[in-house]
Amino acid sequence: MKYPALTNVIGGQPAPANGALLDVFSPRNGEKISTVPLSSAGEVAAAVAAGQQAFPAWAELPIKERVQVFFRYRTLLEKQADDLADLVSEENGKTHDEAMAEVLKSIELTEFACSLPQLVSGKVQEVSRGVECRSEYRPLGVVASITPFNFPNMVPNWTIPNALALGNAMLLKPSEQVPLSAMRIADLLAEAGLPDGLFNVVHGGQEVVEAICDDPGIQAVTFVGSTKVAKLVYVRATSNLKRALCLGGAKNHLIVLPDAHVEMTASNVAASMSGCAGQRCMAASAMVAVGNIDAIMEALCEEARKIIPGKNLGPVISRAAKERIEGYITAAEAEGAKILVDGRNVTVEGHEDGYYIGPTIIDFVTPDMKIATEEVFGPVLAVLRADTVDQALEIENGSNYGNASSVFTQSGGLARYVAEHASAGMIGINIGVPVPREPFSFGGWNESRFGVGDITGESSIEFWTKLKKTTIKWNPEARTNWMS
Ligand code: NAD
Repeated sequence: MKYPALTNVIGGQPAPANGALLDVFSPRNGEKISTVPLSSAGEVAAAVAAGQQAFPAWAELPIKERVQVFFRYRTLLEKQADDLADLVSEENGKTHDEAMAEVLKSIELTEFACSLPQLVSGKVQEVSRGVECRSEYRPLGVVASITPFNFPNMVPNWTIPNALALGNAMLLKPSEQVPLSAMRIADLLAEAGLPDGLFNVVHGGQEVVEAICDDPGIQAVTFVGSTKVAKLVYVRATSNLKRALCLGGAKNHLIVLPDAHVEMTASNVAASMSGCAGQRCMAASAMVAVGNIDAIMEALCEEARKIIPGKNLGPVISRAAKERIEGYITAAEAEGAKILVDGRNVTVEGHEDGYYIGPTIIDFVTPDMKIATEEVFGPVLAVLRADTVDQALEIENGSNYGNASSVFTQSGGLARYVAEHASAGMIGINIGVPVPREPFSFGGWNESRFGVGDITGESSIEFWTKLKKTTIKWNPEARTNWMS
């Protein structure tokens, strides 16, 4: 194995789990690269106990002191960006450039956390003569973050720097398919000077997630993954009276109008549907072509043909994912859709056992087809046809999901109309992947997010803290009304 067998990290120490071990494979060649423990409720309880022990001293520190750890963490991320990107690329399969973009985003997220002291001053007001009210943000205690396979470095960093800088202790449950980056994050946080016990990693799958939802010592849970599991986690965690924010899957629509810039649209759409092998919750999945966009379709197919598996396109995460995605393509074909670019049955020389799928564009998909409504999570674009912008919006609005929607046009008025009427939390205008950058927060609508607020940016401050309101009087002689 290229990497040693993984353990949990509890109280700053490696902590072997008692349960079974799961093999970790590189999607690039199907080789076993490590093993990950499938932990259980006992390990969750141990991590919670470690967090509870470390929490009081950390919570007492002024935030300006706590963020010093994250200034150092940011520097370490920057210094080791290349290695961190290699590791992401190895365990997830995405290309080095894509992995590097993920690490750069982690740096940006950490910079936001470093700015938190400027944002959490609270409020003070003289509410009655001689009586002052002040509010301050206080941490919750031990919190948990459950993450998916598609961004092994960035998605954990959506939560880690903010939650910890705001004074909490954290338990991270990374995806068992990509557990290696989480170990590096734990190392870097320790190197940055984070006291032991404040960041714990418990590996595993469903059993660990359920234990997190049930453990009374955990105050808040964030989840990022599929909608099916997001719902389960949201219901279970909130029924145990925890705060929860659960981000789910996506089916992002790109609405392309006939006046759209041909080259810009074609290259943006192709990059959006195929980047990270289509395994982004912000990836273009359905394109709604309004009227005649023949020139754009032609340019789009040309762009897609330039995306070569093993060169500028990584594999999907697993053999099962490859089979599932190819199944969607085959089903769409059987239902009468037309495959313009076919990514099935590709092999990459020297990586014959890798889980590669080429970019695939399927035209004349109708709204009733499975590929029009379900999340495919591969480098596959379903093209639906509409005669008017309102018809296109009807298709977009019909989706259960609501992460992102984009419109491609050169008309400001039409762009604004689509932006206003699309039912998604993140809107792009001539942008294929409309990820809001810090300080703007990340979060979808509908079945792409359960809970209140977004997971990053200022919105996350409310999630990771509770407000303490103190009312103060020193001079009774100032009495002027019922309050003083
Ligand atoms: P997943 O739902 O299978 O797994 C996510 C996490 O849940 C993992 O840690 C996994 O171990 C755990 N898990 C899996 N099954 C479980 C179960 N039955 N009970 C309890 N826990 C369980 O998701 P994934 O395949 O790792 O990631 C891909 C999905 O994540 C896609 O649907 C994608 O759209 C979504 N995603 C969404 C966002 C967003 O911001 N909305 C961001 C990234 C990924």
